[in-house]
Amino acid sequence: MKRALFPGSFDPFTIGHLDVLFSAIQLFDQVVVAVGYNSSKLGLFSLESRLNIIKESVSELSDRFPGKIIISHYSGLTIDYCKSNGINFIIRGLRTTTDFELESVIAQANKKMEPEISTIFIPASQEYSFISSTVVRDVILNGGDASIFLSKNLDISKYPIETK
Ligand code: ADP
Repeated sequence: MKRALFPGSFDPFTIGHLDVLFSAIQLFDQVVVAVGYNSSKLGLFSLESRLNIIKESVSELSDRFPGKIIISHYSGLTIDYCKSNGINFIIRGLRTTTDFELESVIAQANKKMEPEISTIFIPASQEYSFISSTVVRDVILNGGDASIFLSKNLDISKYPIETK
């Protein structure tokens, strides 16, 4: 079975992430969406909330493609998580050339450390390329309506804000 890891902070998971995940599940038998979590680096949402937000956001896709989407979390190096779970592919989404510059360096470093693990880049769809968790956090913190950036299956208002 061909499996891939889609890692991220997902603070919170957006429709941009959902769009990348949709492409990834066409390419792989199973995709593990994993929150890379560093307990000393607090985000807007707790780990538990982020996991539940992902679960709600992908619910329709999970129903359409049973067993293909796994939701998990890890701390430490992404390649270590891949190794201990027998995963050889890392999915990253690219919005801009800046994303590409940052991501290609990380992909090359990971390849050097673990030659069997490859990074697959999926370009953002044009209509979602401006969406980022940073923008969503800003909108939420300032009392705006972030729902247009989020999965229609998600009710973000029920998740408490952890840090400001
Ligand atoms: P990280 O902190 O690891 O960058 P993010 O949650 O910000 O985590 O993003 C996870 C992945 O999703 C990254 O590869 C990022 O480039 C990608 N991504 C974020 N927003 C979008 C979007 N709108 N379209 C495509 N890819 C995106």
